[in-house]
Amino acid sequence: MKTAVLITIGDEILSGNTVDTNSNFIATQFKEIGIKVLRIFTIPDEEKAIVATLTKAFEMADVVVTTGGLGPTKDDITKKAYAKFFGDELVLSEKVYDHLRTYLEKQKRLWLLEHNRDQALVLSKSEVFLNYFGTAPCMVLEKNSTFCFSLPGVPYEVKPLVKDQIIPFLQEKLSLSHIVTRIVSVVDVPESVLSETIEDWELALPKHIRLSYLPIGNRVKLRLTASGSSREILEQELETEIQKLIPIISENIIATHEDRIEKILAELLMERKLTLSVAESCTGGELAHLITSVAGSSHYFLGGIVTYASEKKVEILNVDSETIETFTVVSEQVASEMAKGCQELFKTDISVATTGVAGPEKGEDGKDVGTVFYTIRIGNEETTSKLFLPHLERIDFMNFVSQKVLQDIVSLMVKK
Ligand code: ATP
Ligand code: MG
Repeated sequence: MKTAVLITIGDEILSGNTVDTNSNFIATQFKEIGIKVLRIFTIPDEEKAIVATLTKAFEMADVVVTTGGLGPTKDDITKKAYAKFFGDELVLSEKVYDHLRTYLEKQKRLWLLEHNRDQALVLSKSEVFLNYFGTAPCMVLEKNSTFCFSLPGVPYEVKPLVKDQIIPFLQEKLSLSHIVTRIVSVVDVPESVLSETIEDWELALPKHIRLSYLPIGNRVKLRLTASGSSREILEQELETEIQKLIPIISENIIATHEDRIEKILAELLMERKLTLSVAESCTGGELAHLITSVAGSSHYFLGGIVTYASEKKVEILNVDSETIETFTVVSEQVASEMAKGCQELFKTDISVATTGVAGPEKGEDGKDVGTVFYTIRIGNEETTSKLFLPHLERIDFMNFVSQKVLQDIVSLMVKK
């Protein structure tokens, strides 16, 4: 198996100001093509550290990737360190310079061309992948049969460079076998029970197909990964195995292709031509955000509303103020009335409402942090559920609740 070492360069990662999402992204992409990441190093913007870590990485792996420190500012010294490590010099690349001009012209920032001239400096021995989303190009180098790539730090520049240029390059150069993945989403079965139920099927899987369990919310994603020389054959084989699995746990499977819950929901809504609206309190718009992150969501999502203050729940969603007084604002009764009001307001087939205490302080009525009620209305039928998540921080809480709500909509729709 081919191997890789990832090096993230940047003082701001070590200080905790920036979360290193680049390594995570690259590692997942490499896994997809069968490259095993042996180590991830995070190091400061220091020439000595960069050279030392490159040296170590080249001793270990077939592929070395660095991210960060390619910018035009003084603190960006990755290229200088590369020059030292490869015993090479930086030269102006006409190809990069031309690309830089076109890029800046398009952005109406051509006046920056000379300020950014150093961005067109690359090692004389390097091949270059142009960066279509930023100014720093990616250098490609080879030494002792190890390939090395210098990526910029900005995640939206890293992703296309990796996906569109580095991955195809490595697949060809390293003659990698194809890896095909399918994800089956299973709900309402604890992982341990699931693994017992499908044990015979799992044991009978061919050797080149691997299974992993990825729990998220109360959903378990079963990931099947197959490797071999023909993509078509692998795809067919995975389909065959999934067809064998379906009868064993058909009631609990909500999707066999898509991975993200908002996309699974999108497909179901489109297929059944149903519309959706949301009324949010404790999720603060996260539900609407997740739903609209799917391209084409305008086909089924009519709108959402964040009614944070109690009086807005009354004014806009028609919640009875007596219901709030009697049962408090974080209650199943209020969730239910919010969902009903939302469905009437947006005139949708399905509506959802959330009300809860995200913390860190207790709710105004003394409800414990982490308490949530949510109601899902499909046509005239409604289902209200309660969650208690006192251990989660505010943002994680909002996200968890939103994931769970979308998952429940899917479960309810599938069971109908
Ligand atoms: P620039 O041309 O913008 O200076 P660069 O290649 O020099 O890019 P850095 O200066 O190291 O890259 O980082 C630019 C920004 O990209 C950082 O401020 C940070 O927000 C983000 N970034 C850097 N490294 C990472 C990483 N490993 N994961 C996620 N984000 C990162
Ligand atoms: Mg920089």
